[in-house]
Amino acid sequence: MATKSPHPSPTQAPAHPETAPTTSVVVVGAGPTGLLLAGDLVEAGLDVTVIDKRPANLSNLSRAFGVHARTLEVLDMRGLAEDLLAHPSYKMDKVAAFGNAELDLSRLPTTFPYLLVCAQPYVERVLRDRLERLGATIQHDTEVTGLAQDDDGVSLTVTGPDGTARSLRSDFAVGCDGVHSAVRHLIDLPFPGGPVMRGIMLADVLLAEPPARPTVHTNRQAFAFAAPFGDGYWRLTAWSRADQADDGEPSLDQVAAAARQAFGSDYGMHSPRWISRFHSDERQVPRYRVGRVFLAGDAAHCHTPAGGQGMNTGMQDAANLSWRLAAVARGASLGLLDGYHAERHPVGAEVLRSSGRMARLATARSRLAVAAREAVAPLVLGSPAVTRMATMQISGLGIRYGRGPGDARTVGTRVADHELPDGTRLFEHLRAGRFALVGGAAPAWDSELAGWRNRVAFLTGPENQTVLVRPDGYTAWVGAPDPADVSVALRTWCGEPAS
Ligand SMILES: Cc1cc2nc3c(=O)[nH]c(=O)nc-3n(C[C@H](O)[C@H](O)[C@H](O)COP(=O)(O)OP(=O)(O)OC[C@H]3O[C@@H](n4cnc5c(N)ncnc54)[C@H](O)[C@@H]3O)c2cc1C
Repeated sequence: MATKSPHPSPTQAPAHPETAPTTSVVVVGAGPTGLLLAGDLVEAGLDVTVIDKRPANLSNLSRAFGVHARTLEVLDMRGLAEDLLAHPSYKMDKVAAFGNAELDLSRLPTTFPYLLVCAQPYVERVLRDRLERLGATIQHDTEVTGLAQDDDGVSLTVTGPDGTARSLRSDFAVGCDGVHSAVRHLIDLPFPGGPVMRGIMLADVLLAEPPARPTVHTNRQAFAFAAPFGDGYWRLTAWSRADQADDGEPSLDQVAAAARQAFGSDYGMHSPRWISRFHSDERQVPRYRVGRVFLAGDAAHCHTPAGGQGMNTGMQDAANLSWRLAAVARGASLGLLDGYHAERHPVGAEVLRSSGRMARLATARSRLAVAAREAVAPLVLGSPAVTRMATMQISGLGIRYGRGPGDARTVGTRVADHELPDGTRLFEHLRAGRFALVGGAAPAWDSELAGWRNRVAFLTGPENQTVLVRPDGYTAWVGAPDPADVSVALRTWCGEPAS
């Protein structure tokens, strides 16, 4: 089922594409997905235009509240994890599940073995500050209203703050414009799926008598979740079967009533700085790429808030797409861009499934389902193997991509950060969108393969093989320690060497 949209028809193409200013990539939308993507592209040296219909001073208050381990790794690969950790936040190393069971994140194989509770505006601020440091600007109060593409590029119509429409021409365009995406509509993609939950209330509040730690409770009438932001405020997520109003701001009393139903207490909540109610759809576009136009983040997929995956999945979409666009700009085959849909669409589909399962279980009504939920969860999560699988999935660390015929077993798998013989860390070398070539002889090829020096870190590693690590931290290629083979791999994955 396609969503209804107030946006103009896809036939509304720009008036004078031949005279429009040209750019490599137009990023539509400066939420977390668009900001990460734009920063990566600018850092890779591409000419990028970023537009957002939001006014400059209006934040995405407060929305997502959790940054998972893999997203923190993505930020670390950009030198931004420390910036985010400097903002108010709370490291949650145990995530409550059903029936008093807990998911222990503290044993995750990562530098960040926790869920970082941190308000979405801080994530956006870190990404925006990076863009500013790189000298890029966001054109605010500016929305896309027309789009057409041909074999050579994309022509967009954008409407600025004074209501005047103008044309832009780019090699590629990426719709990071959220769940009501105009880009999605303009390329005529359906957004099949439907509603899952109504009446989810969110409030960022102070608690006079806070619980000792993050807490979740579910019964047949209600569920609620409370977690601290680290700045005195708590995020309350509450749902009550008895209060299924449509969207629109609930009162604090309504949130407190649902919390009392679930927790048996409202913890003396007061002074909300943000309060909201929303319904949740489960939808996903069938294709993340149509020609030279891509969709990423909420524009491509939406699901329930269970598991806190929305912002995280969008940022990881962006990290997967940015290095591909940069490589193609440097002469890699356009086919490299197909990998974006091939890898990220299944990840989005799995997020829809797992988040939907959690939400349906949390709101289950029948006595049988409730009993099963409360009894089975602690038993299942008592198994170390199940716990490891569940924590790897929820944290994003377990995501692995496919490999081609004849590829080594590790191609497509995540490469964990680790210390190198010279005391540096692998992730430090992936900054600025660089690949890492790791192998015994790799440093010696620095001159032989000098054309890639700016894009590839040549690092010491095992003697008998060479591993090419992508800028998003997954293995691209594994081969023999032979510069001739390596140069073929570099051409494929990173583009042509600089002369
Ligand atoms: C009320 C609410 C609560 C949420 N709570 C949670 C949560 O608890 N946990 C969680 O993980 N996720 C949550 N989410 C989801 C999370 O906020 C999103 O997954 C995340 O913001 C997605 O980022 P994005 O950059 O893809 O899209 P968005 O953050 O939506 O950003 C899209 C940007 O595009 C701009 N834009 C839109 N249309 C146009 C246009 N035509 N032209 C130009 N610009 C345009 C918008 O102004 C916006 O800045 C919540 C969402 C909502 C609405």
